[in-house]
Amino acid sequence: MSIFKELGLSQAIVDSLIELGYEQPTEIQKLAIPQILGSKDDLKAFAQTGTGKTAAFSLPILEQIDTSNKNTQAIILSPTRELAIQIAKNVNEFSKNINSLKTIAVYGGANIEEQIRPLKRGVHIVVGTPGRTLDLIKRRVLNLESIQWLVLDEADEMLNMGFKEELDKILESTPKTKQTLLFSATFPREVEAIARNYMNKPIEMSAGQKNVGADSVEHEFFQVTDRNRYPALKRIADVNPDIYSIVFCRTRRETKEIAEKLIDDGYSADALHGDLSQAQRDLVMQKFRTKHLQILVATDVAARGLDVNDLTHVINYKLPDQTENYTHRSGRTGRAGKKGISVAIITSKERNKLKPIERKIQKQFVQKQVPNGKEICEVQLYKLIDKIHDIEVNEKDIKDYLPDIYEKLHELDREELIKKFVSIEFNQFLSYYKDARDLNNSDAPNDRRRSGDESLTRFYINQGKMDNLTPARLIGFINECLRKRDVEIGQIEILKSFSFFEIDKNFSPDVLEKMNGADFNDRSVIVEVTSKPKGGGGGRRRSSDKGGFGRKDSKFKKNDDYKPRRKSPAESGGRRKRR
Ligand code: AMP
Repeated sequence: MSIFKELGLSQAIVDSLIELGYEQPTEIQKLAIPQILGSKDDLKAFAQTGTGKTAAFSLPILEQIDTSNKNTQAIILSPTRELAIQIAKNVNEFSKNINSLKTIAVYGGANIEEQIRPLKRGVHIVVGTPGRTLDLIKRRVLNLESIQWLVLDEADEMLNMGFKEELDKILESTPKTKQTLLFSATFPREVEAIARNYMNKPIEMSAGQKNVGADSVEHEFFQVTDRNRYPALKRIADVNPDIYSIVFCRTRRETKEIAEKLIDDGYSADALHGDLSQAQRDLVMQKFRTKHLQILVATDVAARGLDVNDLTHVINYKLPDQTENYTHRSGRTGRAGKKGISVAIITSKERNKLKPIERKIQKQFVQKQVPNGKEICEVQLYKLIDKIHDIEVNEKDIKDYLPDIYEKLHELDREELIKKFVSIEFNQFLSYYKDARDLNNSDAPNDRRRSGDESLTRFYINQGKMDNLTPARLIGFINECLRKRDVEIGQIEILKSFSFFEIDKNFSPDVLEKMNGADFNDRSVIVEVTSKPKGGGGGRRRSSDKGGFGRKDSKFKKNDDYKPRRKSPAESGGRRKRR
């Protein structure tokens, strides 16, 4: 007999589970299903996302719904539209063999009339976000007076998202006789308060320990300097060519910026954040779910309710402020029995954020080294070889071209041919990672190389504070002239009428060629290579790190009267115009 049947579920439901490929109940399902079927007691369940909690609460409810009664009998509240849609979809799949059982998802950002119509016809189970649910109650189209089950799914998230007032009002409109089922991954004070105020001596159950991360998730961290966060992210992606990942950022701005950079750099990536319209968000999520995107850069709020099971990595581009959010983020990988990796990219200063997280997840982070260029090239090379090995040749269509192709390549022997074919794609990685720096940062901030760093060239530029030049504008201007982001930039000195900046010496010819003669504030720009100040200190930055100041060199701060070294016109690209 099916184990689900032993838990008390009918054949109609068991059949739908077989179709969905559910062979064994998950831990929370084993505990919750018989409990909800056999008792009217309220239930407080600790369950992480991805543990199968949707089936845990919806299967026993489905089992008990009276389809001959048109009243709404169960309301499931969820924090986001996406999660509400997902739950309703699951409920529909579970109940496909139950005649005339009606379920609807109601959520904001969608036409309310289209939700009102089916509600008026009669719906047994309503899955809703708190805001829209309350709206429908106020319009008197959703009547919760005869509900028997109230589910609060991801209660902590609903409160995090500021739905306390809506929840209070919805809960007040429900009958005392109902059974309340509260599911939460964490139990902060606010959730306990809801349980205290609205539940009657709830039974407590826990699938796994409270607030503990899933066992199937490994937690790793990479320690880099702040300006190496993005290059480290790229290397993590490059060394995992089959990566399927959500990269969590802390702000919408950062989310957009990182996604744009990844897209510019040729990754299959997109952003998901609150500034997108619902239609745009749906499109991005659809592309990600169907694996047309490998990397989704998202804020915590936007990624909620995104139900994807086989993420290879969750990447914390920056760790969240609240430790609990880390559990939510990492809980998105290692789901449905699969292994997952949760990565944190941190600076040495952020290292103290790991301890509280380790206490919460009851696991240790393992420090990993950002891969070097050689390691990445190796992985990419073997990936390419596998691709060539496994590619299916379309004999029929290629046949007509082959004689000409053989003719053109007949001078090349086997070894040369292989080398050339492989190089078509591989050269790009080789040239990018040739001379790639070590991005790892031990506790000493060793990446903040000083002026005098041999890999940087120092330039004079005939623009200063009088020209409204700021470090951010200078970086922007360098980007614009070089048509490149991510060029290593060292110290920047903005003085009254001229300034200095340091830049990766590999780009020196480009700087001279492309910046000289360019217009900045209607003045023709002159840049010249200049000598480095003695003992001056300055951090490195990337040309994409707009804003922020490099360390000032006191020598030049005091003396705003620097005269550039004279150079040949060819070297300097022109003479300095004095105003
Ligand atoms: P949930 O925690 O409800 O979001 O479920 C996480 C994922 O696990 C969903 O994609 C479910 O379809 C899947 N799932 C839930 N229960 C089972 C089960 N007993 N067997 C296999 N997959 C399951």
